[in-house]
Amino acid sequence: MSRPFLEYLVRTRTLAQGNITLLDNCAVRRLVTTADYTRIVGVEVEDRTRDGAVNALTAELIVDCTGRGSRTPQWLAELGYTAPAESEVKVNVGYATQIFRRNPGDDYARDWILITPEAPRETRFGGMFPIEGDRWIVSMGGWAGDHAPTDPAGFLEYARTMPTPDIYNMMRKAEALTDVYPHKFNSSLRRHYEKLTRFPAGYLVLGDAVCSFNPTYGQGMTSAAMQAAALDDLLAQRGGELAGIAPVFFKRAAKIIDIPWQLAVGEDFRYPQTTGPKPAGVDLLNRYVAAVHRATLIDPEVGRAFAKVMNLMAPPPSLMTPGMMLRVWRANRQLRRQRQSLARTAAVAVD
Ligand SMILES: Cc1cc2nc3c(=O)[nH]c(=O)nc-3n(C[C@H](O)[C@H](O)[C@H](O)COP(=O)(O)OP(=O)(O)OC[C@H]3O[C@@H](n4cnc5c(N)ncnc54)[C@H](O)[C@@H]3O)c2cc1C
Repeated sequence: MSRPFLEYLVRTRTLAQGNITLLDNCAVRRLVTTADYTRIVGVEVEDRTRDGAVNALTAELIVDCTGRGSRTPQWLAELGYTAPAESEVKVNVGYATQIFRRNPGDDYARDWILITPEAPRETRFGGMFPIEGDRWIVSMGGWAGDHAPTDPAGFLEYARTMPTPDIYNMMRKAEALTDVYPHKFNSSLRRHYEKLTRFPAGYLVLGDAVCSFNPTYGQGMTSAAMQAAALDDLLAQRGGELAGIAPVFFKRAAKIIDIPWQLAVGEDFRYPQTTGPKPAGVDLLNRYVAAVHRATLIDPEVGRAFAKVMNLMAPPPSLMTPGMMLRVWRANRQLRRQRQSLARTAAVAVD
């Protein structure tokens, strides 16, 4: 489904809960604290539906979910706390998206296609997904500055450079329903709240406000949802007791974030142009993941296991069981043999 449709459904379900009220068109301007700054007791909210009138809202627990642009680091510093240390990994990814009419009878009309690059030799990726309203959404782009163009002809030409022709063949024939919209993503950014030793009571931070990942891996929403579920579990375990919750929550959130961070940043470090703190052991791991990648071409079981890990439905060690390693090794051996046999055939043809 498209992102607006997903957000509409989440919003509808959320508001169907009787105990949730949504204040639309509002912006939090600052935190309200006790006189000694040790507890956050509310927020000041600017109401754009009422000429910017400012109201104070009070609460026992306030959770900052304002995304990557979260101002909590500045607010903490203004209140005399240390702002969290940051890890930033620069990737210089740029992609573009266009929507096409889909004929449900066409080839692939119910499948999706994802073309991922063999890094660092290739830098471009592309995806084509059926969405509601009989439409295709196509996104293509690249790492290390190899961004997709935003004029329709250039975007189509970019599709032609993909290692398989599927996206190009669909785009060539289908009716475009939108312009080509670009999105640039410069860096993955992680704020290490789990390392802080002082943090005000009554306040937490969650989702992209803590960590925003390279969106090409599609893990940010899952990670944010898992953090929200972890907070729910923690509150249930403690019977709603809030004292001392921040360090426990931030440690649990960090454990959740560690996996997608390792996966996303690890993949990004296949490109020598990527800069920033490199997780230990990433080069070794990447060599194995590259073999897993290749194995997904011919072994659907490896493909399923890999997709589960990338979608945070299974832990990365599930790709390293003896049975899985054997499958990966066998698939790579088969692919090597196929390549050698193709090379021999080509050599005979040239002779
Ligand atoms: C182009 C792109 C594609 C992506 N694709 C995927 C994908 O396929 N799969 C996936 O899992 N993730 C994807 N992501 C990542 C995903 O969007 C985020 O990880 C996720 O939305 C984070 O949720 P969040 O609630 O923490 O923050 P956000 O979704 O960023 O929400 C923050 C909200 O806070 C509001 N806000 C900000 N400041 C204030 C303020 N001062 N007062 C009041 N409100 C405020 C904002 O308006 C916004 O509504 C993608 C991201 C991008 C940019």
